[in-house]
Amino acid sequence: MARNERQTREANDFIRAGDSWEPVGHTPLPGILELRNWDRRLLQTWKPFYVPVTDKCSLCTYGECDLSEGRRGSCGVDSSAMQARLTLRTCCEGLAKILAQARRLIDYLVEVKGRELPVDLGDKIGIEAPHIRTVLGIKPASLGDLERILCYIEDQLALLLASANTGFEAAVSDLESKAMHASMLTHTVMEAADLAAITGFAFPSSKADTALIDVGLAAVDTKKPVILLVGDDTVSAVCLVDYLRHSGLEGKIEVVGMGPVAHDLVRYCPTAKIAGPLSALPFVLRSGIADVVMCGGGNLLTDLLSETRAAGAAFIATDAGTACGLEDISSDNTEEILIELLREKSILLPDPSKAAAVAVEAALKLSASRSKAPPPESSGQHEAGKMRVGRGPVMDTEIRKVGAPLVLGTIPGVIAIVGGSNYPGSPGDIADIAEEFAKRKYIVVLAGDSAIAAALKTDNEGKSIYERYPPDFDAGGVINMGPGVSSAHISGAAIKIASIFAALPLRANYEVVADYILNRVGACGLAWGACGEEELALATGCNRLGIPVIVGPRCIKYGRLYLSKPGETDWSVMDGRSKQVVDTGEPSPEHLVNLLADKGAVIVALAKLCMRKNDTPQGRATKLTHYIGLHRQYFGKLPADAHLFIRRASDIPIFFKKELQAQLGESGWQEKPVLSLPTLVGTYRSQVTLDDVVH
Ligand code: SF4
Repeated sequence: MARNERQTREANDFIRAGDSWEPVGHTPLPGILELRNWDRRLLQTWKPFYVPVTDKCSLCTYGECDLSEGRRGSCGVDSSAMQARLTLRTCCEGLAKILAQARRLIDYLVEVKGRELPVDLGDKIGIEAPHIRTVLGIKPASLGDLERILCYIEDQLALLLASANTGFEAAVSDLESKAMHASMLTHTVMEAADLAAITGFAFPSSKADTALIDVGLAAVDTKKPVILLVGDDTVSAVCLVDYLRHSGLEGKIEVVGMGPVAHDLVRYCPTAKIAGPLSALPFVLRSGIADVVMCGGGNLLTDLLSETRAAGAAFIATDAGTACGLEDISSDNTEEILIELLREKSILLPDPSKAAAVAVEAALKLSASRSKAPPPESSGQHEAGKMRVGRGPVMDTEIRKVGAPLVLGTIPGVIAIVGGSNYPGSPGDIADIAEEFAKRKYIVVLAGDSAIAAALKTDNEGKSIYERYPPDFDAGGVINMGPGVSSAHISGAAIKIASIFAALPLRANYEVVADYILNRVGACGLAWGACGEEELALATGCNRLGIPVIVGPRCIKYGRLYLSKPGETDWSVMDGRSKQVVDTGEPSPEHLVNLLADKGAVIVALAKLCMRKNDTPQGRATKLTHYIGLHRQYFGKLPADAHLFIRRASDIPIFFKKELQAQLGESGWQEKPVLSLPTLVGTYRSQVTLDDVVH
């Protein structure tokens, strides 16, 4: 969409367009329509597939409307458009949640450290903010820059939410495009939040072998007073640790986290503990080990207050976003607040410094007056293991090393496991999936609750996956990036490959970078547990960036997938060298977002989703070896579609040569070209030209 002169001037001022670190690309500070053509091109291949929970709509006062059998509601939308509207709303909610978290964090840091505090990720990270550079076109230099970036994203969110109103956007493709916009911005704000946290609180960065910390209820010393932090309130966690350090009580009180805050807690204080994944929260509360529960926002369990009271602990709500109906007494002094907390057992206290002081004093007093038994051994919650503390962004040196093998396909892929831990199957499944790929020399990265769950499965020697595999972003490495917001560093690593390995300019160059990742970087994501709104946005943001994702069965409630159709989807791409459109017939990646419930099916699909059109014959043979081997391991036979991924005889893995040749013969397979510069650019209307991708 063309901008007027004023808008262009404002955008140029915002991104300091005169700074010459890279030329400014086509979409600085993109508005809600500026990447629409890219989205439409994606949706042409990977069409939205809707699974509405109901045929009825009651979203506005014109309803209830019956949307069954192709009927339209009073506002003109059909069932698909309604589901797309709900998807947009959910992605906006996810974005809003992360924005609120980032806003609280950055406002606090600006207050205590000042706007001029430089963004500093250590000496091994040159591309400090791949998303922010690529989406907005600015290199964030300070906390003040991060603050301004939040303002831009808040403006975009307002426009996106307005579009989701009844009587506004009713076209499926535009609703989906806007959902992708909200989701791209979710990655961006996640990156901003984690940059601020790493900078402001000196969390680990530019380092792979971070500390190994204890995870599991068994690791908690219940003889000490215990403060349990849940939710995503990093500021309260940091203030609590600071208070303990300044008052000489560090080590005398057990500080335990669950949920996103747990990752940040151990990034700041490696002697803190993580009681387990969020799915174990009801059990941990009922076990009665906590003397004080500090609740920030952002967790999936809403009856924390009553559970805490029933367990005889004190409850402090620290975040305005989850006020729990409690009275705000933060204007009182700490002595008065402590008396109130001990009397009422629950207060709202959004002042993080006061909350820290009151929590510590209350824990000391309550611990002395309560008897706490360790949780029963038969509970099944006694697993304990070691997790490596979240390491933040991938280092430029690591990208330099793996860029070529990843793009050529000789490192078979990056498997990103994120999101909630409440997945189907056994609690050890996430660790099993991670290990299956680490053994096969994929790069395995984890974040959020999945990273915590993976620590709890140990081998005969009591070692978790983090102790058995190297912590490097390299073949066979297993990495914990950090809390949910650190997931942005995973997609950010894909962007860095485009910059560091392919020398593509990132600045406001989203379409070119996403096209590169889609066609050349074999990365895919798994969000297998119950998903919050931000995880739908995270997945959809990956999709816009060209990264496919598998979600778990609980995500069916969000009602939308992006799927190709066997025999119907057009797999044509532009060959950037010959400038000809080529029908590859190759479903890579087969789907952008798909839902699977079975561990074996997930593993096989992840291996398949790592194939890209740019794979060299050697890389393709490696990827096919894993795909076919895993298919045989979990389904007992060769995959029926293996021939679709074979372009020349040189793609055929030696190990399966005989059987594959039989399949090729039966399917009428014919040799296909191996493209060295596949791109969607040139197959749809765009300001981006082939010259932008050929270099
Ligand atoms: S939003 Fe549209 S379909 Fe839903 S109740 Fe209102 S008029 Fe009916």
